[in-house]
Amino acid sequence: MPGKLPESLQQKVEERLRYYEDLGIRLFYRDRVAERRADGEFVSQVPTQQRPAPAQEISLAKLKAQMAAAAKVTPAPVIPVIAPLGPSLFDAMNKVQDDTLPKIVEEIGDCTRCKLHRHRNKIVFGDGNPKAELVFIGEGPGADEDAQGLPFVGRAGKLLTQMIEAMGLQRKDVYICNVVKCRPPENRVPEPDEVETCSPYLLRQIDVINPKVLVCLGAVAAKTLLETNRGITQFRGQWLEWRGRKLIATYHPAYLLRNPNAKGEVWKDLQKVMAELRLLAPKKKLL
Ligand code: SF4
Repeated sequence: MPGKLPESLQQKVEERLRYYEDLGIRLFYRDRVAERRADGEFVSQVPTQQRPAPAQEISLAKLKAQMAAAAKVTPAPVIPVIAPLGPSLFDAMNKVQDDTLPKIVEEIGDCTRCKLHRHRNKIVFGDGNPKAELVFIGEGPGADEDAQGLPFVGRAGKLLTQMIEAMGLQRKDVYICNVVKCRPPENRVPEPDEVETCSPYLLRQIDVINPKVLVCLGAVAAKTLLETNRGITQFRGQWLEWRGRKLIATYHPAYLLRNPNAKGEVWKDLQKVMAELRLLAPKKKLL
């Protein structure tokens, strides 16, 4: 058919449109059911009476207003500090002089420091821009990540990529890593001793990259960095101060796959991040 997109591209467009729809942005839904006629006109494949009524159709003006609100430079919000439960693991660490990411990779080596090494295939160190202003931190690698040695490449990773792209960024613009670098068996939550053993590498990664904003994806990342037992719902979407940087916690993409209704909340959190990065770097077009 003339003008038909290659299947791989169609699939990509389909995924992106589904993601926007999940966020409540339904400007494109008519195009999804439209087909080009021989004369070049696009016609709907679905009779008007059968088309689903968009529950929350957002007008272009409203969407523009939302984007403008996200971009608006406003005074930095008050940042509450969550005090660590006990002596800080991170404060107790000796700072490594002239640290670099390759140095950390070399030091991790073929790590057997915790029991997670027993079942792993590949250590998943992290990926992205080593000078990123924005770092996403997840919990630990899954099966796809363990096989490829890269973070967030499975289904949840695809969703994270869509989220990053919806922010106007590419994966190569940000840095993505996890609290533990080896896959927990059956994707279970990493245990406290595993987190304690592996998270100093995460701290060193963050110190080397020196980002302005950290986004914790899910409770494990948030609780590890903040050294708190508080539930993520108590502080999700709030700006927090963490070792002189701004940190925001939001839901993990894997949670969003199980609970698509929460995508709107995550999008609001990411809009705050977009606004914050513009605020901190007004002369540089980041997003
Ligand atoms: S999870 Fe971290 S500490 Fe444990 S074996 Fe892997 S790299 Fe080493």
